[in-house]
This record gives sequence, C-alpha cells and structure tokens, in this order.
Amino acid sequence: MKQWAKRVVLFGIDGAGTFFEQTPTPNIDRIFRDGAVCRRALTEMPTISAECWGSILHGVDCRRHGLTNWVTGKRPFPADSPYPSVFRVIRENRPDAELASFCEWGNVNFGIIENNLGVYEVNAQGDELIQAALDYIGAHDFTLIYFHFDIPDHEGHAHGYGSPEHLAAVTLADSWVGRVTEAIEKRGLLEDTMLLVEPDHGGTPPDERGRGSHGGDSDAEKYVSFFAAGGGAQHTELHDMLTRDTAPAILHALGLPIPDTWNSRVPGGLFADVPENLPRPEGLPVRVEEPRLKKAFGVFEEELAALKPALHLPFASFDALPEGTERTGKLYLVDGLRGKAMRFDDGALRVPCPLKGGSVSFTAWLRLDAMENRMPVLSVRCAEDGSGWLCIAATGEDHLVLSVRLPDVDKIRHMEVGLPAKRTGTWIFAAGSFEAEAGVAGFSLNFEPFMRQLLPGKRVMGDGKHARLLLGTDDLSGPGQRFPGVLEDVCVYDKALTDEDMARLKAYYVG
Ligand SMILES: [Zn+2]
Repeated sequence: MKQWAKRVVLFGIDGAGTFFEQTPTPNIDRIFRDGAVCRRALTEMPTISAECWGSILHGVDCRRHGLTNWVTGKRPFPADSPYPSVFRVIRENRPDAELASFCEWGNVNFGIIENNLGVYEVNAQGDELIQAALDYIGAHDFTLIYFHFDIPDHEGHAHGYGSPEHLAAVTLADSWVGRVTEAIEKRGLLEDTMLLVEPDHGGTPPDERGRGSHGGDSDAEKYVSFFAAGGGAQHTELHDMLTRDTAPAILHALGLPIPDTWNSRVPGGLFADVPENLPRPEGLPVRVEEPRLKKAFGVFEEELAALKPALHLPFASFDALPEGTERTGKLYLVDGLRGKAMRFDDGALRVPCPLKGGSVSFTAWLRLDAMENRMPVLSVRCAEDGSGWLCIAATGEDHLVLSVRLPDVDKIRHMEVGLPAKRTGTWIFAAGSFEAEAGVAGFSLNFEPFMRQLLPGKRVMGDGKHARLLLGTDDLSGPGQRFPGVLEDVCVYDKALTDEDMARLKAYYVG
C-alpha cells in the first residue's frame, strides 16, 4: 500500500461550517491553494459536537459510535470498540508512532480518543494551546496531530453563526492554522505532511435574542468546508463527501489499512489512486435493537381520540411549543423515532399543563444515551408548591424509577424497573399513571401492563391550577445532574391510563 504522507495534521474548527467563504482566511487560502477542497461536506445528524467529532475521528455514523456531549464528558471511549478511532488504528499498526491532540474542548481527549494509546494530549485555550503545540512540534517528529479550536462555536452560540463575532473567530482560527503550519515548515517537515482543515458543523444565524444554535438539519448547520493539502492531496474539488470520510483519508495518506467495520471511505479524487464514486461500505451492522414501529401512522389525536391527552408535544419545532413554555440551557431538535425529538443536554423545558388535579398520567418515547444516578427525565408537577408529582428518573446505573409524591404525604413512593445497560441507546416507551379514586400508581415500559402500587394519604394530586410538565434537568435533580437523552411524543393525560389504554397505544405505534 502506497504511503503518501509521513504525517497528518487535522485542524478541527468547531462550529465554523462553511463560513470560511464569508470572512478573511489568508492562511488557509495560501496553504490550501494547490490542494483539494470540498465546499459542501455533509456532517452527521444531529449536528452536535461530540456526535460530529466522533464520526470524523472514528469513521462511522453516530449511531455506531454512540458518542454525545454528555457521554464524552463522563467516560472514556471503550478501548475494545469495533469502531476504533483513527488514533487507535495508527497505534495498532505503528507502535512507536508519535501521536498528539491539542484541544480547547477537553471532551475530545477524555471521551472521544481512547485513553490507552499514549497520545500526547493537551487541554488548554487559545495562545496557551498554540504555544504547547509549537513546543511539541519543535521537539517531535509526529505521525498524527489533531487540533480542536472551539472559539468559532463559542462565539456562534453567543452571537449567532455568521455574526461579526463568529466570523472574527473563524479568522482567528485561521491565524492559528498559519502559526502551526509555519512551525512545521521551519522544521523542514512540511514536504511530506498532509494538512487538513475541517469543522464539525455550522450553526444558525442570530435569533431574536441574538444567539445561535446547532443540532438541526438546515444547510447552515449540516454543511462544512473541507480542505486538504500536501501528502498526496490532488488539486481538485471534491463532491459527495461525508465528514466521517476524513478518518479513512488520514489512514490512506499514511498507507494504513481501513477497518472494515467503518461505514466510510476515502473521498473519491482526493488521491491519484482513489477513483471517484467509490461505494461507501455499510460497515458492521448496528446491534442496537430498535422497536419495530408501524410504517405509517394515523393522526394521533384521531386514532387515539378516546385517550384525549391534555397535552401532546410532538416537538415539530421550537415555535410549536405551547404558549407559556419556559426554556433553559441547551436544547436540540433532532431526528427521532417517527418525527422530531428533543435532546436535552443541560437544558430543560417547563410546559404549563391544563390538569384538574385528580388522576394524572403521562406517556413518552425516550432514549437514554447513558444512565446516571438521580438523572431526571420527566416529571408532572401538580401543585404550585411542588408537593404533588409523578416523575421518572434513573437511579443508580441500571434502573429507571417512577416516583410519586402525594400532597399530604412526606414519603416519596418509588417503583423501580431494572433497565439493562443494553437498553441505553435504544428507544423505550414509558408510561406513568396515578388513579385518584383508588389511590394507585402505575408504571409501564414498552407497552407492558402497568405494575401497580397502592399509595396512602389524600387521593388527589394537586390544586388543579398550577400543573406543569418538566422535561430535562429540574429542581429535584442534584447539582450538575443532567438528562443525557432524547424525548419524543410526550403526552400528559388528565386521567388514569389503564392497561386497555396501553394496548391502544401499542396498536397505534407498533401495530
Ligand atoms: Zn461543535
């Protein structure tokens, strides 16, 4: 296998999308003048950092690598995953290779690159990060260096993507690309080095509060620019490139084999020995078991007219959220099981709920990226003082719990269901119910009949005036606790759901 380059440098520029076209980037213009460019490389959905960097570095879509912002902050990437990072593939083929990663966002070094590879890792900001890299390059002949520059994404969130502040940050990142390249050149290493520039995603223009966001599938979010120069990169324009094709491109440049578990391929035309229109392999089949839903759904409100939810949140758009809804933190609209779903990260929603205050139930599709003790998911609060509620949360590593508190009873009742770790990453249909007349709470997962518990005390839930639905991080969760997952089709009912209702819901979703 031909080795085109002795070393590769990947400059990852967070949140820069295709905004290089709108702001001066004199260094990138000069360095990549005779190289390859893809003006519209398609990134992963959802267009969120960990998902996108995970795919760029692991050569697979995000369902396969399973990385999210939450997961990458909590645990190292499994060293024995069938989807190795490009760092691991190099290490397994070249035990002595010098590998380095300089990141403004520590999650990449902690949670995306495997921790047992002897990669030289630095987490720092701005000039301090660049100086650390210059020192390293001055003293080492490396095989791969990855950079993560966060400042464009930071400014994009704060001022909108494409705002003057965001564009200035892209220009600043360009100057860092120039400084690092100059150091490589000074060492006489530029000749056989392949340089790559690539963002993970773009972002939206300033909204009414002057802020930007990403996670969706608009062109400004999902397309990024890709630049390659040196080390075999042809002078050409690339078409049909996914950002996850970056990992195979790096291995091809270094003359190393590409794992057959990856569903990515070297971008056609990037190298003289890679033809255009190379098919992208399917990779290893995903092992996550997804519920088998019906192919076509009727209108929820029509087919389930007998259930009459007091509140139904299909998450079609942020604008479609009910009036009076409060939003905090980072929330993302992403592709769900049958429509759109809401990813919560550190965000939360408080939605006013028209409930009378007697019986109450909820249903929701939920997908947990991981489990954490006291992790909030969803709660229905039935009184202003927060005294009556029904909620689900995770407890420990492997249990989902339905908790119920009645207004005049101090004790909180819990009903736990063991949830094996393999259920993380897949969709679950959860339902909680409280029947005022009998004083019975019920909990159901995946359309099973309710497990039930008799509760003592006053048999009403609230005052019928101040009910609200809380999704994501709430005031019952501990400090720093988050809901690392996704919700879709959330409903609240002003009645107790029965096993017959559950059968109706099953017939609607699953058939
Ligand atoms: Zn990002």
